[in-house]
Amino acid sequence: ATPGAPVDTPVDTHCPYCSLQCGMRLRPTGDTAGLPVEIVERPRFPVNKGALCGKGHNAAAVLAAGVRLTTPLVRDEKGGPLREAGWDEALDRAAAAFTTAGVRYGRDAVGVFGGGGLTNEKAYLLGKFARVALRTSRIDYNGRFCMSSAAAAHKAAFGLDRGLPFPLADVARTGCVLLVGSNLADTMPPAVRYLREMQEGGGKLIVVDPRRTRTADLADLHLAAAPGTDLALALGLLHLVIAGGHVDEEFVASRTTGYGAAREAAMAHWPERVEALTGVPVAQLRRAVELFVGAGSGMVLTARGPEQQSKGVDTVGAWINLCLATGRAGRPLSGYGCLTGQGNGQGGREHGQKADQLPGYRSITDPEARQHVAAVWGVDAEDLPGPGVSAYELLDTLGTEDGVRALFLMGSNPVVSAPRARHVTERLCALDALVVCDVVLSETAALADVVLPSAQWAEETGTMTNLEGRVILRQAAIRPPGQVRTDLHIMHELAARLGREKGFPYDPEEVFAELREASAGGQADYSGISYERIRAEDGVFWPCPATGEDHAARPAMSAPDAPRPSIPHPGTPRLFLDAFATPDGRARFADVSHRPAAEEPDADYPLYLTTGRVLAQYQSGAQTRRTPALNGAAPGPFVELHPRLADRIGVRDGELVVVTSRRGRASAPAKVTSTIRPDTVFMPFHWAGEGRANTLTNPALDPTSRMPEFKVCAVRVEKTS
Ligand code: SF4
Repeated sequence: ATPGAPVDTPVDTHCPYCSLQCGMRLRPTGDTAGLPVEIVERPRFPVNKGALCGKGHNAAAVLAAGVRLTTPLVRDEKGGPLREAGWDEALDRAAAAFTTAGVRYGRDAVGVFGGGGLTNEKAYLLGKFARVALRTSRIDYNGRFCMSSAAAAHKAAFGLDRGLPFPLADVARTGCVLLVGSNLADTMPPAVRYLREMQEGGGKLIVVDPRRTRTADLADLHLAAAPGTDLALALGLLHLVIAGGHVDEEFVASRTTGYGAAREAAMAHWPERVEALTGVPVAQLRRAVELFVGAGSGMVLTARGPEQQSKGVDTVGAWINLCLATGRAGRPLSGYGCLTGQGNGQGGREHGQKADQLPGYRSITDPEARQHVAAVWGVDAEDLPGPGVSAYELLDTLGTEDGVRALFLMGSNPVVSAPRARHVTERLCALDALVVCDVVLSETAALADVVLPSAQWAEETGTMTNLEGRVILRQAAIRPPGQVRTDLHIMHELAARLGREKGFPYDPEEVFAELREASAGGQADYSGISYERIRAEDGVFWPCPATGEDHAARPAMSAPDAPRPSIPHPGTPRLFLDAFATPDGRARFADVSHRPAAEEPDADYPLYLTTGRVLAQYQSGAQTRRTPALNGAAPGPFVELHPRLADRIGVRDGELVVVTSRRGRASAPAKVTSTIRPDTVFMPFHWAGEGRANTLTNPALDPTSRMPEFKVCAVRVEKTS
């Protein structure tokens, strides 16, 4: 049972959407037919200081009866309609489907697909559910589509992946921010304050984006590189840093390794070559370097633009190289950071719903890690499955001889959000059984054989980890309506039906206690964090071990031989200031060179397509398209194209165009604007149906992160006749 607060009693919590996890206060209204909570400011929470974007302001709309699921649904035969069912029938069917697929085709015929918006408790229990209750290796999650390239590059360079290795507030005090492939002004507007403060203090903002977005409008310099060329751009800037004598030789010598190869690669990317590859004029390249090295400190922040590429890991590595060569890493107010997208994009990747990971950011192939987690779970390490396959690889083979036959999907909508979405939809339809937990009947839930209605953000308690690595607490303000249950409760019930009566608690604090134990000693160590501390401290940054005698909070006045007081670890807002988390404490340069996108424009498909978000919608739109105020502001898809391109194909603003790639066609009204490169078209990816941008996108995978190439593919655009 999830507790709810009495009417009018305010409850501090966080927005259900992006990784900023803005603090907000909910006041239950008692209006179960309309909006059950009122959202009010929570000015004390340091990240957003009371500010919310339109998505946050309107987040109560999805709690309203009428837009959401309130009862389980089942389908009696393939192609037949969904009908209402009781919990026992729905859960029995789901468990029977998993058992049947496992018995018929082997344990890996059952799969689990999670989400980057799930609380830490859910992400943790879902990983355990897959490996202990289902005993399958086939688990991955939609966060693979979000920040996996940055995570892999971060880990390779610094030995540890945390989106931002410093608090967001540090951005306001740095000397220069190089923002690569992020439209912060639309995706997380309250964070723009930090950029403005930085500029007001004399700092400079450089934005890299093929579109002149609202964020690029704020910049001191906008580099409109062609999609898929961010790697070449980073190498070109490093070339100019080296040629201009701006390398921080002392930093490179004392705190890094691998500079030689990085230097060689950069020297092969001279400015004129980089201009030809990226379309960014040499003068702008030189100006970017002047601004970046001219400030005493600096940051490179990347988002999905450079990351969602088939060379995403190398691309991020090249930007990290720029930080390392200039000594902008592991120092106060400097560093590389990834602006994670989904609400729990950070925590979602730490607790075991990734195919290759166990809780605490442990590798599933590390024998010591397996022993530790198996002991917490009360199972034999030999019984834990090994690594599975990545998200797209899992979806791509659904229903095939070697693929998953019965899928348990929680908090994700791949019909809209997966690359090559028409194919993925076909694969979902080919499953023997699809079981979906969701708050609304999303496009994916509508295909399911069993739909289990889940409680949502204001109705359940659980932790999230925001883009800074700050672990925060969402608190239940109201009880869920109708027959709705929490995802933790659903997993508890399913596990019991699969023969695991014990080990799947559904009280979130109990799950968190186990998560802390499982994470202890791992890189993402939560063992010193408690709900009580989070409430008292407005969040706690990991790593935060429970046993931290030597940490900085130890009183400096203590005599050296005095007994060590038991002082809670303070958490770690800033990483790498003394040493990087690699075995030798040095950061590693990446050895990378430019290579083209998996699919470049040609005679048949002469344009680049790039995709992204708009201010009033979020991810697959499952919630925001059901929010009247947001849907009114952004009611449908569009195709952004340059006036020269519009002239060439004879289309005017607002007329319907068809965009075709090698994977399919999508159509939407043209939005003619000179803010985009003439060789590029842009579509937002929040919609299903004819305007589904992901019908077009290319599932070519990065060899390391297995990230699909969402951000660049080749298309042609025609006016509809
Ligand atoms: Fe919510 Fe993100 Fe908007 Fe903040 S910026 S209110 S977390 S959607």
